[in-house]
Amino acid sequence: MNTKKQYAEHLLHFLNHAPTAFQSTDELIKMLDAAGAIRLNEEDAWNIEMGKTYYFTKEGTQCAAFRLGAEPKETGFRIGAAHQDAPGFRVKTVPSQISQGIERLTLEGYGGLNIHTWTDRPLSLAGRVYVKDENGDAKAINVDIRKPLLILPSAAVHVVRGVNEGAKFNVQTELLPFFAQNSEGKPKFLSYLAEYMGVKVEDILSFELAPYETMDGCFVGMNEEFISVARLDDAAMAHDIMLGFIEAGENCKTCDIAIAFDHEECGSNSNRGAKCNTLTQIVDRICEKLGYGAEDKYRALAKTIVFSADQAHATHPSYTGQHEMNLPVRLNAGPVLKLANTQSYATSPHGTAFFKLLCEKNEIPYQIFNNRSDARGGGTIGPILSSAMGVVTVDIGNPMLAMHAVREFGGTDDCYYMTKLFKALFEG
Ligand code: ZN
Repeated sequence: MNTKKQYAEHLLHFLNHAPTAFQSTDELIKMLDAAGAIRLNEEDAWNIEMGKTYYFTKEGTQCAAFRLGAEPKETGFRIGAAHQDAPGFRVKTVPSQISQGIERLTLEGYGGLNIHTWTDRPLSLAGRVYVKDENGDAKAINVDIRKPLLILPSAAVHVVRGVNEGAKFNVQTELLPFFAQNSEGKPKFLSYLAEYMGVKVEDILSFELAPYETMDGCFVGMNEEFISVARLDDAAMAHDIMLGFIEAGENCKTCDIAIAFDHEECGSNSNRGAKCNTLTQIVDRICEKLGYGAEDKYRALAKTIVFSADQAHATHPSYTGQHEMNLPVRLNAGPVLKLANTQSYATSPHGTAFFKLLCEKNEIPYQIFNNRSDARGGGTIGPILSSAMGVVTVDIGNPMLAMHAVREFGGTDDCYYMTKLFKALFEG
């Protein structure tokens, strides 16, 4: 890939095929396999060698890759981290119910989403289903139905007079997407799902399924200078980190780790979220294989730096008053460094200096974000990783608008800049 547009096309393709963290992990695996990375399993003994690239996944929604380019006690680790879950909905345990002759799915909200953006657009369904296989064991199958299957029709202005006076929705009672005309009284959703997957309905053991908008991401604007696509926050950063990690390839002179977590949008508190043990596990297992004692491991951690990438708010021209006026953030103007003295972003003065020099050396434009002093911003995984590992951390993200809407909005050039930044970080 040569042009900024080609990087954006790569990102759009990735996001179009990554409706949930399960498919996002599958897409990251395709990128790693194409680059010759070696797959590991957490439960096996690892035979890892200097110079090689490895990866493993956790329950299908977390993907971690690492490469031993040098002795970590000499160079430290260079870590790129993002999350690949997005606000949306999940299908509930009893997945559908019938009223007025219509079978509708039952949903719970996931993360802090812009609910009204989900109405009146064709939705599909994706995720993972566990089924009983022929030996009586549980087998995980990732599912992406891809065709328009569901819709959440809004109320007409004649029916609900106040519909334009602030969109409020009760997920339990109002947000049940239409699935089928059903006058028989017996829900058909699970048998539809089983037939789609080619399994018996009684063999379905469990599922995690999420609706998603069926229209692919696309370029927008007179010169295609913008992108409109679902899940920029934050699967786009998982993509850019992994692409930068792969592009750094043989050139890397440090020990690199690229990781995409799940569950940031609901607090990171799981075995696949940023509060899990995966990063410390990778560090511990590498150090043990290299014969390090505790001292050498802590020498390595003292030289380690984490770039935590989560999308950043660009300044919206209609709502400039909601942003810090001294630090406007623009689309297509490069990675955004996030600073907060309250440590809601983990970037330290040390991290800021490191980031600025890395950008300058590699001719990457950058911008800086502060919250307004009277506003609380969103959370991210940077402070979690920084405090858990005791390492220098830099919170960054690409500029975007419509964060947490069903389709989000960004700049065409920014995928290129962020990927180059991670390539430079990982090269050492
Ligand atoms: Zn995010």
